[in-house]
Amino acid sequence: MRVLERRGIVGGAAVTEEFHPGFRNSTCSYTVGLLDPAVIRDLRLAEHGLRVVERPFANFLPLPGGDAFRLGGEHTGPEVARRSARDAQRLPAYAAMLERAVAVLRRLMHRTPPNLGEAMTLPDWLASWEVARELRGLDLAARRDLLELFTRSAGDLLDAWFECEPLKAALGWDAIVGNFASPYAAGSAYVLLHHVFGEVNGKPGAWGHAIGGMGAITQAMARECEARGVRIDTRAEVAQVRVEGGRARGAVLADGREVLARRAVIANVNPKLLYQRLLPREALDADTARRIDAYRCGSGTFRMNVALSELPDFACAPGTRLQPHHQSGILIGHSLAYFERAWSDARSRAHNPGWAREPVVELVIASTLDDGLAPPGAHVASLFCQHVHPQVEGGWDAHRETVAQLMIDTVDRAAPNFRRSVIAHSALSPLDLEREFGLVGGDIFHGALGLDQLFSARPLLGQADYRGAVAGLYLCGSGTHPGGGVTGIPGRNAAREILRDLRRRPRPR
Ligand SMILES: Cc1cc2nc3c(=O)[nH]c(=O)nc-3n(C[C@H](O)[C@H](O)[C@H](O)COP(=O)(O)OP(=O)(O)OC[C@H]3O[C@@H](n4cnc5c(N)ncnc54)[C@H](O)[C@@H]3O)c2cc1C
Repeated sequence: MRVLERRGIVGGAAVTEEFHPGFRNSTCSYTVGLLDPAVIRDLRLAEHGLRVVERPFANFLPLPGGDAFRLGGEHTGPEVARRSARDAQRLPAYAAMLERAVAVLRRLMHRTPPNLGEAMTLPDWLASWEVARELRGLDLAARRDLLELFTRSAGDLLDAWFECEPLKAALGWDAIVGNFASPYAAGSAYVLLHHVFGEVNGKPGAWGHAIGGMGAITQAMARECEARGVRIDTRAEVAQVRVEGGRARGAVLADGREVLARRAVIANVNPKLLYQRLLPREALDADTARRIDAYRCGSGTFRMNVALSELPDFACAPGTRLQPHHQSGILIGHSLAYFERAWSDARSRAHNPGWAREPVVELVIASTLDDGLAPPGAHVASLFCQHVHPQVEGGWDAHRETVAQLMIDTVDRAAPNFRRSVIAHSALSPLDLEREFGLVGGDIFHGALGLDQLFSARPLLGQADYRGAVAGLYLCGSGTHPGGGVTGIPGRNAAREILRDLRRRPRPR
């Protein structure tokens, strides 16, 4: 088996790189919580050195007026109770409702969705039956919850449960991560659910940090691949998938080299990138071509890595000495209304070429959990920022630095030493995410996680079983079920289907 990677390093959006001399950080994805325990086990990631540490608590939200809200650990109950006794009472029922839904979701994630194409095969009927059986096992209340989670907006869902604004913001953040939408957009409750199905070190719903950054995960995967005889070629950009006689036969590289695939071509790129740019257009039927053109991509995400001379000194939690809130996900954005304003600002482009004047920023200072990332005394932070328009007027090259400064100012308003502590920064606009990582429209999930692009419809009806538009072509990345995040699950499911086909078809001589 041979892996062809365009960049100089494997790992895609889960890599650790030096962005300023002496300062390393996870370049794109920055926190681990969805990585599947079965993938950790199968690929022996722990044996290859992967270690994940947990945050002391999940989120810290500086609030207007000098207060702060802490979610997770022992904080949630008391923090909510002092704002709303009713919400504190409801929290356990909300957690139980999510846990029931997550249990179903986890099982569905590991299945190949029924392929609702023209000719359903026996495995498709069996898969449909298994899904029906899964749902029949739920009582009526759980079915109603599931329906709401799959169709409603996160805002409507959370408003029906709670009144405490910072609580709803802390929970609702998951609904807008990588989702260029209002928290009141139908379907955003699913995005929230998608961010809570995981676990860290056996703790459900937790998020943590991979020592060495996200690249530690993919480097461990690469080591296991190499141990099993996989050849990994970096700086090997695929320009075209070679199709002959209606079958994928290999790849033509940008430098002119050709790689022959004896048995299968497996694409781990965004389906839109695969079908619009890498596969000859004539290999697609007209309907598939039209629908892939309409496949929704675009995350509204702006991502920065920042080298810091000292820790942020929050007005609501003073001090530059390391404190637990520095080790949590620090969220600038205190209400669902704030999130909605940020989206509508970027979407309308009424005030600038296409970004929120008051963006939502999650700040994760990885060096507070992993001192190998920055020189002694200094720190590295990830800024994960929503919302920016995937396409701004005048193009992102003209506006990247203006928006980077806006993000720094946004954190500075909560921690007034932040701007002066910045030694260096790097910034990735949606255009940079597309150019550098192949993330079309800057979509961090290889396509929006909407009901129209999930399960049997990911990436399209008729291609949900990881088999692509032509024979011998398979898809295995986030554009396939169960979607985005550093999970390893699409690849694991795809491998199962590919092996099934290869066992049926003898190895060619
Ligand atoms: C800014 C950002 C923040 C995120 N934060 C988190 C997070 O904290 N936690 C989390 O779980 N998930 C996060 N995600 C999502 C997660 O990183 C992605 O869903 C996941 O990495 C996708 O993995 P993948 O293997 O499907 O594809 P990718 O990681 O996108 O890998 C695709 C690979 O294909 C290569 N490629 C593209 N075109 C070609 C070509 N023509 N020839 C050869 N190679 C090519 C690319 O260089 C890339 O290496 C984030 C993503 C981004 C972008």
